[in-house]
Amino acid sequence: MLNFDRFPNNKRKALTMSYDDGKTPDRRLVSIFNKYGIRGTFHINYGLLPRPERINAEELKELYSGHEVSAHGVTHQSLSITPKENMIYEIMEDRKGLERLVGYPVRGMSYPNGLYDDRVIDALKVCGIEYCRAVETTHDFRMPDDFLKWKGTCHHNQNLLELGRAFLEQPYKNRPHIMYVWGHSYEFDRDNNWDLIEDFCKMMSGKDDIWYCTNIEFVDYVNAWKSLRFSADCSLVYNPTATDVWISKNEKPIVIASGSTVKLSD
Ligand SMILES: [Zn+2]
Repeated sequence: MLNFDRFPNNKRKALTMSYDDGKTPDRRLVSIFNKYGIRGTFHINYGLLPRPERINAEELKELYSGHEVSAHGVTHQSLSITPKENMIYEIMEDRKGLERLVGYPVRGMSYPNGLYDDRVIDALKVCGIEYCRAVETTHDFRMPDDFLKWKGTCHHNQNLLELGRAFLEQPYKNRPHIMYVWGHSYEFDRDNNWDLIEDFCKMMSGKDDIWYCTNIEFVDYVNAWKSLRFSADCSLVYNPTATDVWISKNEKPIVIASGSTVKLSD
């Protein structure tokens, strides 16, 4: 039995975080993530960076290093209620501005105000956006079925610690599991609950079976699984991607290194 059920280095579960708007409490949130080795993605409105409550353009690259900077619309315009020309402006100007700051292609996004429809998804595709996080949540650890309508496990105010414990205890069952948490860092100030995210990160940190990843790393890895090329009898597999990919055969982990062809013995 061949299964796509192993993350990098044979990890069985993935944890990723997703925070929006790039307001100054991100500094405290990033320091908590870094302290516990938790990683994630920050969805930023480039056009709003000059505002005093936002992270400065000058500090952005260094602050978020080790995490991912992703798009959130250059002015946070709700995309489903605007012309497609303006959708494309919102996405591309955000990408261009952020890319100048961070020095890598910005390929992900979260929906400003959570609003989207089929027109918005068409615009994302035109603009080279490879995933976009919605505000709806699943309260489970199943793999997303559509990265352009990516529903997380929970917002951090939705039973975070209970879900975290359930994730740690979740049996593997020959399938990959992801916990995906989203929110805004300023909510911890507003709700006076920084303890919540600190306790969560502490509880989830340093686990041998968890891959701590950014949103785009997760997308790239899943796409690498899908890019594997098998022989007709599934005895050989070729990995044409730039990512080392792990699978299992009869419960045994197998790594298919980038560019390699591997014989799958029984
Ligand atoms: Zn937002």
